[in-house]
Amino acid sequence: AVAMTSEKEAALAAVPSDSPTIFDKIINKEIPSTIVYEDDKVLAFRDISPQAPTHILIIPKVKDGLTGLSKAEERHCDILGRLLYTAKLVAKQEGLEDGFRIVINDGPSGCQSVYHIHVHLLGGRQMNWPPG
Ligand code: C5P
Repeated sequence: AVAMTSEKEAALAAVPSDSPTIFDKIINKEIPSTIVYEDDKVLAFRDISPQAPTHILIIPKVKDGLTGLSKAEERHCDILGRLLYTAKLVAKQEGLEDGFRIVINDGPSGCQSVYHIHVHLLGGRQMNWPPG
């Protein structure tokens, strides 16, 4: 989210759709991002508005209708597993030996603002429970 807009405001303003998102521009390197991991299926880059010392987003390069977890179909099982496995690889790469948090926001109530599925990897500080 941009400076003037809270993440919650951005999420409530976002219109759920299968249209291309800002993440396609990141995948296509049309806008800069700090990429920490990339292979043929997934991309991991630093969140522009980090909520922890490590805050990385892991996304599929091809959305295939997977705007969010609530749209998952059987055909998405491989990529869903790949996203979580990549989160583990990146957590290790980031030195998060003591633990980390994985988050997938879904829909307005889940505070989702970008409709291209993404796994948040958060770490480098003590997480709290319950989340906000
Ligand atoms: O789960 P949610 O949809 O709210 O997460 C979207 C995330 O994408 C936010 O944490 C936001 O900071 C991040 N973002 C980004 N780069 C952009 C636009 C959004 O890292 N250009």
